[in-house]
Amino acid sequence: MFRPLDGQLDHTILETQMLDTWEREGTFALLREKNSGGPRFSFIDGPVTANKSLGVHTAWGRSLKDVYQRYKAMRGYHQRYQNGFDCQGLWIEVGVERELGLNSKREIEEYGLAEFADRCRATVVKSARQLIEGSVRLGMWMDWENSYYTSSDVNIEYIWRFLAVVHERGWLYKGLRATEWCPRCGTSISAHELVGSYIDKEDPSLWVRFPLLDRPGESIVVWTTTPWTLPANVAAAVNPAARYGLRDGEWVAVNRTVNGADADVAFDAVVTGAEMAGWRYRGPFDDLEPGAGVEHRVVTWDEVSLDEGTGIVHIAPGCGTEDFAQSKVHDLPVLVPVDEAGAFYPEYGWLAGLTTTAAARPVVETLRERGLLVRAASIKHRYPECWRCHTPLIFRVTDDWFISVAQVREPMRAANREVEWVPEYLGKRMDDWLVNMSDWNISRRRYYGMPLPFYPCGCGHLNVIGSRRELAERSGSSLEGLRELRRPWIDEVRISCEKCGAHVERIPEVGDVWLDAGIVPFSTLGWQNPVAVRHGFGTGAAAGLTGADLPDHEYWQDWCPADWISEMREQIRLWFYSMLFMSVTLTGVSPYRKVLGYERMLDIRGREMHGSFGNMIQAEDAFDQMGADVMRWIYCAQPPSQDLLFGFEPGHEVKRKLLTLWNSVSFFIQYANLTDFVPSSDAAWPLSQDLDRWIAARTEQFAAEATEGYEQYLTANVLRAFEAYLDDLSNWYIRRTRPRFWNGDTQALQTLWSCLTMSLRLVAPILPFITDYLWRALTGPAPSVFLADWPAPRPADMALVTDMAQVRKIVSLGHQGRVASRMKVRQPLRSMIVQGADGVAPYLDMIADELRVKSVTIGAVNAEEITVRPNLRVLGPRLGPAITTIRSMLQAGEFTQLPGGRFRVGDIELEPGEVLVDRHGREGWYVASSDGVTIALDLTLDDELRLQARVYDTIHRVNGLRKQTGLDISDRIILSLPHADADLLAHRDWIMAETLAVSLTVSDDEELRLARVEV
Ligand SMILES: [Zn+2]
Ligand SMILES: [Zn+2]
Repeated sequence: MFRPLDGQLDHTILETQMLDTWEREGTFALLREKNSGGPRFSFIDGPVTANKSLGVHTAWGRSLKDVYQRYKAMRGYHQRYQNGFDCQGLWIEVGVERELGLNSKREIEEYGLAEFADRCRATVVKSARQLIEGSVRLGMWMDWENSYYTSSDVNIEYIWRFLAVVHERGWLYKGLRATEWCPRCGTSISAHELVGSYIDKEDPSLWVRFPLLDRPGESIVVWTTTPWTLPANVAAAVNPAARYGLRDGEWVAVNRTVNGADADVAFDAVVTGAEMAGWRYRGPFDDLEPGAGVEHRVVTWDEVSLDEGTGIVHIAPGCGTEDFAQSKVHDLPVLVPVDEAGAFYPEYGWLAGLTTTAAARPVVETLRERGLLVRAASIKHRYPECWRCHTPLIFRVTDDWFISVAQVREPMRAANREVEWVPEYLGKRMDDWLVNMSDWNISRRRYYGMPLPFYPCGCGHLNVIGSRRELAERSGSSLEGLRELRRPWIDEVRISCEKCGAHVERIPEVGDVWLDAGIVPFSTLGWQNPVAVRHGFGTGAAAGLTGADLPDHEYWQDWCPADWISEMREQIRLWFYSMLFMSVTLTGVSPYRKVLGYERMLDIRGREMHGSFGNMIQAEDAFDQMGADVMRWIYCAQPPSQDLLFGFEPGHEVKRKLLTLWNSVSFFIQYANLTDFVPSSDAAWPLSQDLDRWIAARTEQFAAEATEGYEQYLTANVLRAFEAYLDDLSNWYIRRTRPRFWNGDTQALQTLWSCLTMSLRLVAPILPFITDYLWRALTGPAPSVFLADWPAPRPADMALVTDMAQVRKIVSLGHQGRVASRMKVRQPLRSMIVQGADGVAPYLDMIADELRVKSVTIGAVNAEEITVRPNLRVLGPRLGPAITTIRSMLQAGEFTQLPGGRFRVGDIELEPGEVLVDRHGREGWYVASSDGVTIALDLTLDDELRLQARVYDTIHRVNGLRKQTGLDISDRIILSLPHADADLLAHRDWIMAETLAVSLTVSDDEELRLARVEV
């Protein structure tokens, strides 16, 4: 006996039940045990930032990772299943700052760095627990107890080794750079963090007059949208090739494209930009000390645009990337007016302490008082913001640490060419990023991060420490009391300079978090580690959080490069990039062979999901409302090259499909139990019935399609094939085989059992809960579907699959014909002709039965009529008066059809756009075609056909009544028809057989009546 399915499919209940079963049986452990001697499949998990619970975004990636690990496991692969958490950096710091109500670096320092570090760690611990809970609920199987945490001292040491190598190669430098800077976070933002973080922002748009020193009464007029940068002005740039004109004492470009009307105004004098070079002017804030010390002058710059402003650009090298570049060209002084928090330095007098935003109004007011303001308006433009705290960024010149990319760029590009990207265009995106990448800014002026091991000495030597042991040696201490390789504790360790022996301190900066994640293929796999250390990874801040080992180098060789990794497309400039950078530097090759990338997740209306839009969906809510299998279906059905629009609505459609699967299994169990059917798991495919042979072959076809989809890392193809298969199985095989199930035909039962158990295995990686539940119901005491083997391909009759697809197409055309001609399904029809599908010849009875047509024949469909009318709007102008003749010839059918939809009428050829064509069946016929198959359905009715339609109606009504009155499917009845239906007695035997009636009479009653025969 098979265990009957629970009455209703409730995903949440079923999934909770399966989670308990897996836990109780130790299914995952059994699976790993089973595969421990198998071939290796190396997957490296990209660390998820441990500062939140699971969201539906993260659940997408986690689902894909789980699907492929499960697939590989079912194919016998031995895997590591190591999950990873990203545990340091600004994401975590900003969260803790919010929790504690701290809003500046000063406040963090007052709070205390040790306490702050503890709070950061506590966030990681809490979030890691929540992420694990959410992932388990999603059905993800990972070795959770042995996750890696990037805050581990082992991870930090591996980054130090990388930095030491970079330093040995001469790639490491400290550079004065103008960078995007977040004044709230007090740190620079590097290029890979900036992409996509732009907002529309309204700023002042000012035209400001700079009086010329050697041309009394004349001024140049500059344009700026950042008033706070004017006190740092040192020069004004003009385009040397452009012409500038003087009007009312003011110099502006003549041919500006914006406000181009000015070009018509007469100018008092016109010169080229080149001629203006060297003109000296009085700076707008020369009353302040920094400006007073500068000789302001006009410089030339080819890039000065005439598209906006005045064609003269104000240059403040301390406040802009391009301005800073110009300072190198023209040897200009660099004034940096604001500190790390974006507040003016004390030497800026009355501006001192004001932030860049707060300074805007007093700066504008002062310009107005001094008569320097020509125009003040406002402008809306794209402006970068901090991706963590959403503060608008400023530009600021600062000394940061960089890794030069000059020597690693081409090796990285070469390594990337060896990587197989899915979808393929992502490989090109990566190459674009590598071609354009600038030097890697690796330093952050923050606290909870990987401490950069740089110890610069007054003698000019830069000491770079590559390991904890080296730090101990150089500091002359055992470091025994050092809690973590992290601030504030590490800041107390001094070392002696290897050049001069002086005591030197570490710089206060910490590293870019992408160093933490990029080193993972080395740190977690034991690269160059001589002896494996059991539980050796959980050191420093990760101590006590994980039992992960620190493996040895041999292990690294076994598992690196990864066979496969998968993350969102944005990781091209983040994790994919940092891993590639570090690996090419250390080993010359990519640490991954294959990547599955996917686009963004948006809400159901295509908007970004955002806390403040109120359209964020927590994974927990999605689990409750749709269930994990439904979510996984939605994720896996998504082509990775398109944005996923996620919402609850598409879940209903998926639930409907899963219900079809559920009902198919339920149907099987119901009839198998009626006859005590016992399946044979290694039965040869039964061959005596066409439909059995067909669904067997169709299942083999689905197995091949599904396997290919997984192998190509395109789950969307697996699900597309599954949907089509499920339709064939339930709407064709089961439906058409129903009478055999009623009769307890064991060959039909065996066939259906084999198809169901095979197809469940094929979709199990995507839908782990429902498939394992149904699998167990079908296979009795056998264990989980995940402990079953992947179906091996078997020979099958593929020609039959093709023919049956034609049969279904013909039937579908026939049904369309009934709908189009308003011919109800229960009305039998006399005949149908099929053309273009000779392979269906053996199945004409099946088609006839399905479409309720008396006779189906294969032959030429000549029932088609075509009417062609001239398209007057097009043809009128071309033919002129001749149109009348053409029209009547077309009407009379005097035309020839030409290939490509063209027609010949007399000696004129007409293009497809010049005619209006109607095709229809001859009177009384419906004609339709699709993909080369044409059908013609005879719609003519006679009395006998009408009578038979009424017989079908009656049988339908009787069987409806049987159900309504609660009769069992095998109960016999006594049936009486109303006197109006007396003529139906002509088909007495037929009606009795179809309704299980033992007697059939006609009464004087108006109603149809039936009664159960008591036995
Ligand atoms: Zn910020
Ligand atoms: Zn020194």
